[in-house]
Amino acid sequence: LTFGDLGLAGWLVQACDALGLKRPSAIQRLAIPPALAGSNVLGLAETGSGKTAAFSLPILHRLFEDPYGVFSLILTPSRELAAQIAKFLRIIGEAQKLRVQCVIGGEDVVRQSLELTNQRPHIVVGTPGRLVECLDSGLREMIGNLRCLVLDEADRLLENARDDVKAVFGALKKPQVLLYSATSTKPLETFSGALKCIKVEGSK
Ligand code: AMP
Repeated sequence: LTFGDLGLAGWLVQACDALGLKRPSAIQRLAIPPALAGSNVLGLAETGSGKTAAFSLPILHRLFEDPYGVFSLILTPSRELAAQIAKFLRIIGEAQKLRVQCVIGGEDVVRQSLELTNQRPHIVVGTPGRLVECLDSGLREMIGNLRCLVLDEADRLLENARDDVKAVFGALKKPQVLLYSATSTKPLETFSGALKCIKVEGSK
């Protein structure tokens, strides 16, 4: 099975190939088709299983079918993870001139807000506290029509940043939701159940 067999666009298959991603991993085989079809997905997968590509590739495929406004928001618990995800997206989307912006704590909030309005990213990758801080300085308007929300390490986000996650959800109009977590917790099951997520599980 190839990335092309999963339904991904030719340019994405080529970009994966150039990065050395030749064959989809288990979580990618299971999670990419329903995500491409627009379903909400709960992916149970550990770091190292290829989960970043599992949520990034369908987002990029759908984004370039209809690039308008901020298409996707990716929430992750740490600044380091945000930087890694943004790096992966920028490499894969380079030839398509993909614009990705990190909105994370520890950096100047005014500058980040200005960059958001000036650069008009296709994808925002952020940590919950700073994202919520930015909602009232323009981000809320920018993400009103967001198409896809990703919670990476959703178990941690729901445990440690539940109110911020709720605030972000409150700013959105029913986007597609992709949840990724290494472990399945009670709050995560409740949350994904309410969203009618298709549950897939895949290790390396
Ligand atoms: P992740 O689980 O997202 O932290 O990915 C772990 C590592 O596996 C990253 O360095 C990816 O570039 C790599 N990777 C992801 N998908 C594949 C694949 N299908 N084949 C080979 N390597 C991959």
